[in-house]
Amino acid sequence: MTTEKGSISIHTENIFPIIKKFLYSDNEIFLRELVSNAVDAVQKIKRLAALGQYNGELGEPLVAVSLDAPAKTITISDNGLGMTAEEIKKYINQVAFSGASEFVEKFKDAKDANEIIGKFGLGFYSAFMVADLVEIQTLSYQEGAEAAKWTCDGSTSFEISAGDRTTRGTSIILHINAESEEFLSEHKLQEILDKYAKFLPVPIQFGTKTTEEEDGVDEEGKTKYKSVTAPNIINTTHPIWAKAPADLSDQDYLDFYKQLYPFAEDPLFWIHLNVDYPFNLTGVLYFPKVKDDFDMQRNKIKLFSRQVFITDEVKDIVPEFLMLLHGVIDSPDIPLNVSRSFLQADSNVKKINSYITKKVADKLGELYQKDRKSYEEKWSNIGLFVKYGMISEEKFYDKAKDFALLTNTKGEHFTFEEYKEKVKDSQTDKNGNIVYLYTTDPDKQDGFIQSAEKKGYDVLIMNTPIDGHFVGSLEHKLEKTQLKRVDASVTNQLIEKDEVLESVLSEEQSATVKSIFEKAIVKPNFSVEVVGLSPDDAPVTVTMDEFMRRMKDMAKMGGGMSFYGNMPDSYKVAINGNHKLVGKILASANEEEQSKFAKQAVDLALLSQGMLTGAELTAFVSRSVELI
Ligand code: ADP
Ligand code: MG
Repeated sequence: MTTEKGSISIHTENIFPIIKKFLYSDNEIFLRELVSNAVDAVQKIKRLAALGQYNGELGEPLVAVSLDAPAKTITISDNGLGMTAEEIKKYINQVAFSGASEFVEKFKDAKDANEIIGKFGLGFYSAFMVADLVEIQTLSYQEGAEAAKWTCDGSTSFEISAGDRTTRGTSIILHINAESEEFLSEHKLQEILDKYAKFLPVPIQFGTKTTEEEDGVDEEGKTKYKSVTAPNIINTTHPIWAKAPADLSDQDYLDFYKQLYPFAEDPLFWIHLNVDYPFNLTGVLYFPKVKDDFDMQRNKIKLFSRQVFITDEVKDIVPEFLMLLHGVIDSPDIPLNVSRSFLQADSNVKKINSYITKKVADKLGELYQKDRKSYEEKWSNIGLFVKYGMISEEKFYDKAKDFALLTNTKGEHFTFEEYKEKVKDSQTDKNGNIVYLYTTDPDKQDGFIQSAEKKGYDVLIMNTPIDGHFVGSLEHKLEKTQLKRVDASVTNQLIEKDEVLESVLSEEQSATVKSIFEKAIVKPNFSVEVVGLSPDDAPVTVTMDEFMRRMKDMAKMGGGMSFYGNMPDSYKVAINGNHKLVGKILASANEEEQSKFAKQAVDLALLSQGMLTGAELTAFVSRSVELI
C-alpha cells in the first residue's frame, strides 16, 4: 500500500480546536463513543457471519481498552469487522455533516457535547477532545484485505499507509494531549467505563500496561508489555432488562437493583418494560421505599441506548411523577443527542411517556387486585407516587381512582368508592354535599379529631407533603364532595346541618360575652363568635378558615399564591355559650377578672393547638401562676 496524504473534507480550516473548546466540559464521552464504535464493529461481524457473508473464524468477541500511562496512550481495540483503506476514507475522512458552516452556526447554542456529537455524527472525532494524535490500525474481514493505518494530528490533514494489524479488527490509539492527562489514570478510566460501559452487549476488557519491556519482543517482532493490572472484563453483557421476564426470578431483579444502587433498601416491586412497536423500549422500573424525602431521590433512572449508558437525567422521557422511581430504560428510539426542547416535542418521547404511565397504572391495579392486604401495607410508600400521578396526569387519575386508597385515623384503608359509601349518611350537609374531614397532624389536632369522632364522623389522615395538593385535586374531581380540615371550624359547624345550635345564653348575654372576649384578645386578626355547643365541648375553640388556610399552605409551598402568603393569619374564636366556664365569666365580680378569665380560656385553646408561642406563652405562664 502506498502512503497517501489528504485533507479531511471539512471546509472550515480547523474544526478540532472548536470541538475541543466547546466540548471540553463533557470530554469523558470520547471513551463512550470509541467503545461503542468498537462494540458496533463486533456486532456487525457477528451479523455478517450469521448472514453467511463472513465465513472466517469469528473468535471470542472482545473490546479491549488499555492504558499505557508512561507512553501517554489509551488504546481501544476490537475484533470487529475492521476497515479497508477505502472505508476509512469514506467513514472517517468524510465527516458526516452537511457543511462546516452549519456546524459553526449551531455550536454557538449547543449546551453540551452530546448535542453536537450526535447531531453531526462526530462520534469518532470526539477522540480529538483528549488526543493530539489519533492513530487507527485496522484490518478488514474482507478477503484479501490489507491492514491499514490512519493518523491525524488534529489538523485537517491525515495520512493513510500500510498498517500493522495481523488479526481482523480495529485499534484506535489515542496520544493523550497535555490538558487531558487526567485520563491517563487507571482509576479515572475505570470510573468512566463503569459509568458508560457496564452493560454493553460485548465483553469489555480493561487493563493497564507499562512500556517497560519484560523480555524484549515477541515472535511477531512486537514489543511485549508488562501488565500492571491484568486485563479483566468489566461489564455484564446480558443485563436483566435485555432478558425475557419469564427467564428471571425475583432474586434476579433484586440482585440487579443492588448492583445499581448498592446502598438502597430493597425495592417494593418492579415493572419490566418491553415494547417493540410503535417504538422500541425495554427496561425495569423499581418502586423504591421512600416516604417523605421528596426531592432527594430524583434522577435515579438510568437511560441507555442499546445498552450504552447515556444519562441519568430522564426528565421529559419519564413522566414527572415517576421521576422518583429507580431502574433503567433502554431505547434506541429516544433521540439522545438533541436538545431538551426538541425532546419535549418528539412524538416518540410522548408515546414512551404515556406507555410508561399506563404500565405503572396497570401494575398498581394488578397488585391491588391480587393481594389487597399487602397492597395496603405498601400504601404509605406507593401512595406518594399514586397521589402525585393523580394530581399531575389526567389519564393516570382515571386509572388510579379505582385503586387509590384513603386512610383514616384508625389506620383503615378505603377506595374512593368505599369511602363515599362509608360516610355519605352521616357526613352529608344540608346542601347535599358530602364533607370529608381530614387531619394534617393527628397529634396537634387531636382535640378536634376526638370531638368529630364523638359526633360519629370519620377523619382521614392527610399528613404527607403531597396531601395539600391531593386534597385540592380530590375536591375538584369528586362530585358534590368537600374536604375540610377537622379544625376548620367547631365540630358542630364542620358539616352544616339544618338543626339550629341552641345556646342557653340570652341575646344580651351573648353580646356581653362577645365583647368581653373581644377586649381580652389583643391580637388583631381574631373574630369572635358565641355559639351553642354541647356543654362537654371545649369552652373556646380557635379555628382558621379552610379556604384561607389552604391558600396560605400553598403560598408556603411556592404555589404562586403569594397574595395569601403575605396576609397575616386570621382566626375565628368560637365561644361555647353552653359551657360552664362562660357562665362563670359572666358572673365574675369585675371587668378585670372577666378579662383575665377570658384571656386564660383563649390561651388554653391556643395552647392545646400548639399555637401559643413566644411572649404570649410567657405571659400565659405568669398569669397562670398568679391565678393559682
Ligand atoms: P457513528 O458511530 O455514529 O456512525 P462515528 O463517527 O462514531 O459515527 O463513526 C463513523 C464510522 O466509522 C462508523 O459508522 C464506522 O463505519 C466507522 N468506524 C468507527 N469505529 C470503527 C471500528 N472500531 N471498527 C469499524 N468501523 C469503525
Ligand atoms: Mg459512533
